[in-house]
Amino acid sequence: MTTVAYFISLLGKDNVLEDPEALAIYGTDWTRRYPPNASLVLRPKTAQEVSKILAYCNEHKLSVVPSGGRTGLAGGAVALDGEIVVSVERMNQILEVNIQEMWICAQAGVPLAALQDAAKKAGLFYPMDLGSKGSCQLGGNLATNAGGLKFIRYGGMRNHVLGIEMVLADGRILDMNASLQKDNCGYDLKQLFIGSEGTLGIITQGKIRLMKKPQPYFVTLIAVDTFSHLLSVLALCRKSTHTLTAFEFFTDAAYQHVKTCFPHLGGVFSDPHPFYGLIEVEVASHTQGEHPLFRLIEEAFSCGILADAVFAENAEQFSRFWSMRENITESLARTGRVHKNDLTLPLGSLEAFMKSVSALPKGGIEVIYFGHLGDGNIHINYIGPANGDVEAFRRDVRVLEKKVFECIAHYRGSISAEHGIGCIKREDLHYSRSELEIEIMRKIKAVLDPTGILNPGKIF
Ligand SMILES: Cc1cc2nc3c(=O)[nH]c(=O)nc-3n(C[C@H](O)[C@H](O)[C@H](O)COP(=O)(O)OP(=O)(O)OC[C@H]3O[C@@H](n4cnc5c(N)ncnc54)[C@H](O)[C@@H]3O)c2cc1C
Repeated sequence: MTTVAYFISLLGKDNVLEDPEALAIYGTDWTRRYPPNASLVLRPKTAQEVSKILAYCNEHKLSVVPSGGRTGLAGGAVALDGEIVVSVERMNQILEVNIQEMWICAQAGVPLAALQDAAKKAGLFYPMDLGSKGSCQLGGNLATNAGGLKFIRYGGMRNHVLGIEMVLADGRILDMNASLQKDNCGYDLKQLFIGSEGTLGIITQGKIRLMKKPQPYFVTLIAVDTFSHLLSVLALCRKSTHTLTAFEFFTDAAYQHVKTCFPHLGGVFSDPHPFYGLIEVEVASHTQGEHPLFRLIEEAFSCGILADAVFAENAEQFSRFWSMRENITESLARTGRVHKNDLTLPLGSLEAFMKSVSALPKGGIEVIYFGHLGDGNIHINYIGPANGDVEAFRRDVRVLEKKVFECIAHYRGSISAEHGIGCIKREDLHYSRSELEIEIMRKIKAVLDPTGILNPGKIF
């Protein structure tokens, strides 16, 4: 029996895709940087089917790319060399929402927005939130250890996981999907697989802790004249009695791109300023008629660190302010060729880092900054002309990027805060991981995937 015939017998004809259009779609991710070259797309529905797929691929030494919502920004879900893409999109069942124990259990292909909705319906709260929530999936969020917009308040994916179910490279199903709040029996293996970017197994199920519904959120957009002032406002927020749920930042250049691409969002500030911040707090109770952030903003003005501020006074403004921040990625993607860095630094080194990077010669490349400032997470975007010479742009960006990574290494930051390494950053892992760490990672990979079929060329 041929490989295709075997998979058709296992999954049915509709779930074994060979047509060029499907191979192109499933062979790439949101970076759209690499020409896709998948040989086959498989769409299993159960962990047992995934198990049979991997057992077959392992025996026949066929490489596999695990695929979720393909919103990844590191080239993790791309098939470059004739791999078989295993998409978990049909594994889209929410299996249980347990209110008493406060968790949700779902198959790996459930989109993040559906998990949020299910938690909300149960009167609880799913603590992850990403700009890609409509498309990214539980398995992808786990495999990338996604961070996101509320990291400052709730932490990342790793912090919320009670259990996962995995299929190993040889097809064995590793069930670590208990629902224990406390469990100290040897190594916490599930944490090894979280953030492993499809290189150690395929995640088929996850059990995620839910939270109590948050108190109402309040938002303000601020404008400042220096990066240092943004950090000073952040320090004021830390002292405030309100719970900070987001402290995002973006530059005027990012803001202008969003305004151009999404004109219906309109402008917020009458005069441009170099930096803007979006501050969101969760507030249990506040003086009627006064915006809960009013006192804090007043104090910031009196310290001379604010140039302007606008409060979201109603639901429409609240979602418009957030849309301005959330649409930056999309607006940059539409305007030109984008290469992204996703960096973290200790907060105390951020200002010095930004000064060093601003002083680097850019050679005509437009560089745009935004990110989750409260987590020390900066997204640097290098923009090239949509119709220019791609190779020349990539060469120039690479020269600049290496200098940025040298700064990161100097301040002991990370070259990947939340997007992962994928194939985009595999040559740069050494900027943030020691030789010994990389050696240990390689050994773990060799133990769990001795034939090297799982997502080859990613991370290493
Ligand atoms: C507009 C936009 C905003 C974003 N904002 C954020 C943000 O704020 N924070 C953030 O962290 N990321 C963000 N991202 C990046 C992306 O959404 C996340 O990395 C997300 O977790 C990827 O999930 P996915 O299902 O799309 O995975 P994919 O892109 O399909 O895959 C990502 C990696 O996970 C592996 N994988 C996928 N599914 C499985 C599985 N079931 N088992 C094993 N491995 C698997 C793939 O092989 C690949 O290596 C954003 C992306 C976009 C486009």
